[in-house]
Amino acid sequence: EFIKVSELANKMSIKSVELIKKMISFGIIATINQLLNQKTAQLIAEKMGHKVILYNKNDLEKSIICDRVIDNTLLKERPPVVTIMGHVDHGKTSLLDFIRSTRIAKKEAGGITQHIGAYQVKTKKGLITFLDTPGHAAFTSMRARGVKITDIIVLVVAVDDGVQPQTIEAIQHAKAANVPVLVAINKIDRIESDPEQIKHALMKHDIVPEEWGGDNIFIQVSAKTGKGIDDLLNLILLQAEMMELKAIDQGLARGVVIESYIDKGKGPIATILIQEGTLKKGDIILSGCSYGKVKAMTNEVGKNINKAIPSLPIVILGFSSLPEIGSVMYALNDEKKARELAIYRQEKNRENKLDKNRRLKLDNIFENMKEENILSLNIVLKSDVQGSLEAICEALLKLSNSEIKIKIIGSGVGAITETDATLALASNAIIIGFNVRAYTSSKQIIEKEKLDLRYYSVIYTLINDISNAMKGMLSPEY
Ligand code: GDP
Repeated sequence: EFIKVSELANKMSIKSVELIKKMISFGIIATINQLLNQKTAQLIAEKMGHKVILYNKNDLEKSIICDRVIDNTLLKERPPVVTIMGHVDHGKTSLLDFIRSTRIAKKEAGGITQHIGAYQVKTKKGLITFLDTPGHAAFTSMRARGVKITDIIVLVVAVDDGVQPQTIEAIQHAKAANVPVLVAINKIDRIESDPEQIKHALMKHDIVPEEWGGDNIFIQVSAKTGKGIDDLLNLILLQAEMMELKAIDQGLARGVVIESYIDKGKGPIATILIQEGTLKKGDIILSGCSYGKVKAMTNEVGKNINKAIPSLPIVILGFSSLPEIGSVMYALNDEKKARELAIYRQEKNRENKLDKNRRLKLDNIFENMKEENILSLNIVLKSDVQGSLEAICEALLKLSNSEIKIKIIGSGVGAITETDATLALASNAIIIGFNVRAYTSSKQIIEKEKLDLRYYSVIYTLINDISNAMKGMLSPEY
């Protein structure tokens, strides 16, 4: 750790010239911008009669917490944050879309609803925040990072399909996270069916309706006709009321990054769910290794917002780099502190990464192969259309030679899913997206596990890259 002569002078409330003169008398010749190491600076300060408090970056981390309002008498009720889970095709997206379109679009005249990862709706009885990424991966990845953002899980079960593997998975996730489950039996417009059967099936997994002595609320809905959805919203609020959800809405804000991407024109953009305090335009923010200043805040219809309080999701412009999804964002009272912490965390991350085993990357595949004796290059390939998928598969397989085999262990049409990512992870494969991108939830896995993901839009470039990588693998390195 170093300090500039001018900064040291500043801390001792003397002019830099004075300090430089004093230092000469101690036998140290220095210029105003010169960096002094901690020991020297300490010695100088002590010689000049100052008590030295050594600066510790860990204290800086701690100060983030210390700077916050922690007066429990200031706790206020806050809206619940809800995640919708359930088996594929049971209607999670439809439900989220129905609620969004009926509750937001019409109210905000002229506003175009955007998918920002979450949205808040107003009902007569109160506000509700919905996380807009259905499915379990987003939920689990947040939990894996130790952040809890979901207060209530709405478990969607299609009445005509009943309890399915992912229904059970969702229950397990909910139980593990200790989040209450409200069951929405969906698609009731479809058949005259028997929800009793679903109740019985769920009982086996410890989801018991209130009328049977349990503590799970059940409601029948149709995401298609909208039947029951107002009741669902009311019941969510009822559940929330029982939970007495509270947060302090004053002081420096804390939130969680739930979406982030780079906009070509505007730079890094992040959706933040505020959990504590008030975030204001102009606030200094820090999230993981990225920091910045809130230049603009908007809501899910692109409306400008000046202040954001707990449970409100907002889109923030102003991060200097892309903040990681699932990381905690803090507002700080000092830009210098934010910058220092960001750099400090970067250094720490780098150290951690060096320690971690490096995964298979196209760039260092040769080393890995030597180390692990792999003689095949495994690929998970996704493409926009069947035609190019087949063409690429064929061309890739032709690259195989006597020493290295190309193995396409997974392929298909469509965006890169979580299953693709976990498949690549489990089989040490690289992932290639041809004219397709990765879902946010898959990106999380890819980033976390440091998988090699490559995007292409020209077949030739794709084949050329792989071919070159293979040549690299083969050519001996001296
Ligand atoms: P997800 O995979 O859980 O997100 O399910 P989706 O929302 O994509 O829905 C799967 C299919 O079920 C779609 O074709 C929807 O139109 C349909 N669907 C969803 N909810 C309802 C409903 O309440 N009634 C009917 N009839 N169809 C529905």
